[in-house]
Amino acid sequence: MARRGIIRRSIYKSPAQLRLMVEAGRVTRLALDALSAAAREGVTTLELDAIAEKVIRDAGGVPNFQLVPGYRHTICANVNADVVHAIPNDRPLQPGDIVSLDVGAEVNGWNGDAAITVVIPDPQDEARTKHAQRLSAVTHSAMWEGIARFARASHLNEVGDAVSAYVHANSKYGVLEEYIGHGIGRSMHEDPPVFNVPSPGRGPAVKAGLCVAIEPIISAGTIDTVIQDDDWTVTIKDGSLSAQWEHSVARHEGGIWVLTAEDGGAAGLAPFGITPVPIA
Ligand code: MG
Repeated sequence: MARRGIIRRSIYKSPAQLRLMVEAGRVTRLALDALSAAAREGVTTLELDAIAEKVIRDAGGVPNFQLVPGYRHTICANVNADVVHAIPNDRPLQPGDIVSLDVGAEVNGWNGDAAITVVIPDPQDEARTKHAQRLSAVTHSAMWEGIARFARASHLNEVGDAVSAYVHANSKYGVLEEYIGHGIGRSMHEDPPVFNVPSPGRGPAVKAGLCVAIEPIISAGTIDTVIQDDDWTVTIKDGSLSAQWEHSVARHEGGIWVLTAEDGGAAGLAPFGITPVPIA
């Protein structure tokens, strides 16, 4: 889930606190794995919501999106031009859909938050399918660019520089500016903000103890959005397709660890020559 609003709290976790973040990340990832396996033509996003909730509760967690005031679901399911905070519904996924699935778990008072994008191929419309797949791929790569920069950054705003530079070098897509990543810990949404575009100042120091959700949110067209009458669903104003990928990531004394990746980010970071180190 992307941040709106501000909660003030110390942004650097102790080693003991970082260790508590690991299980929340693991349970979040289990839910994402189940969503990835279940997302296909004919499945509704409400059915996906139920699948994710069961996985999280069976693992001893709480769906933390349900802890956001006014939100009653486990996931946000953003289909096509719906870009973030879309409420699951009973519309079956259909060929040609691009859907981002955003989920989080709270375990023992600590939080994880992550998202994937899935494309439902349309054999009747290869161009649409390829367009959606490329949008997802560029967004996915932009997320890893941001995570890799976070691994080496001295200040946090370098992440937005890296994300936007990658997107603009590789596409004509737009990087949303209104919806951004965030610190994560005892709350899902904490300081500091994690911008996806260049921002004034350098941002806080990146050092051991900093945990953030890095989540590029990309439009194939305009970055202007509208909020639907449900007061949650954010939609690209010109109807363009959109994508989002997200991981929760920790810097610690030993290096970097991607809390919501099964391999800690090893595969995604390998092209950058970065080897993640488990939190000891
Ligand atoms: Mg988030």
